[in-house]
Amino acid sequence: MIAENIASLRARISEAAGRSLRRPEEITLVAVSKTHGPEAVLEAAQAGLTVFGENRVQEARAKAPLVAAPVSWHLIGHLQSNKVRQALGLFERIHSIDKVDLARDVDRIAGELGVKPKVFLEVNVGGEGSKFGFDPGALRVAMPELLALEHLSIEGLMAIPPFVDEPSEARPYFVALRELRDRLAGEFGVQLPELSMGMSGDFEVAIEEGATFVRVGTALFGERQGKAWKP
Ligand SMILES: *Cc1c(COP(=O)(O)O)cnc(C)c1O
Repeated sequence: MIAENIASLRARISEAAGRSLRRPEEITLVAVSKTHGPEAVLEAAQAGLTVFGENRVQEARAKAPLVAAPVSWHLIGHLQSNKVRQALGLFERIHSIDKVDLARDVDRIAGELGVKPKVFLEVNVGGEGSKFGFDPGALRVAMPELLALEHLSIEGLMAIPPFVDEPSEARPYFVALRELRDRLAGEFGVQLPELSMGMSGDFEVAIEEGATFVRVGTALFGERQGKAWKP
């Protein structure tokens, strides 16, 4: 079943890329495996997926060693400062740098460990009180300090737009993230090539608007299994 879901997702990703005159290779499918066990990850890996997204450090740390396949892990959920060291030992990318304080902590610990993690800055595009992420204006103010953190490789922006009923209603938020990226890249003279946006319900619209990473869980693994997977 997972293999069939992957085939259908790949076709939909290709079509969405084609509609915006992009190549499907520009888009990485991050398989969001939170709440699902290592056997589901292994099944997806055997069907060709290599990148898996988790929202909790603890859950990912327990799951990863049980997956006997060469996969890489991305952190897509909020990172607490006391978990940074563990996160840097496991995740190839962190999509969810949502505050200057967290960026400073990641930078300091990356320096101690002698690594340079690839990270995305999370933007609260809907201005929702309940969501993590930089307010767009605050991000602009924080950019000089963030760009000066020498142990961080800031690759782009990430967003989780407000929940909407129709995928097309998410489009303005995806456009806003892309335009913010374009403005910041221009103003600060940096490359911010990556846009992590789009989930099961709206990844095609996100791709049409420039997503380079789509984070898809339910459309791949089915409904989530409770709040978290435990060994
Ligand atoms: C759970 C999660 C997803 C995947 O959501 P689906 O709707 O199941 O595809 C994507 N991004 C983040 C940050 C998530 O926490």
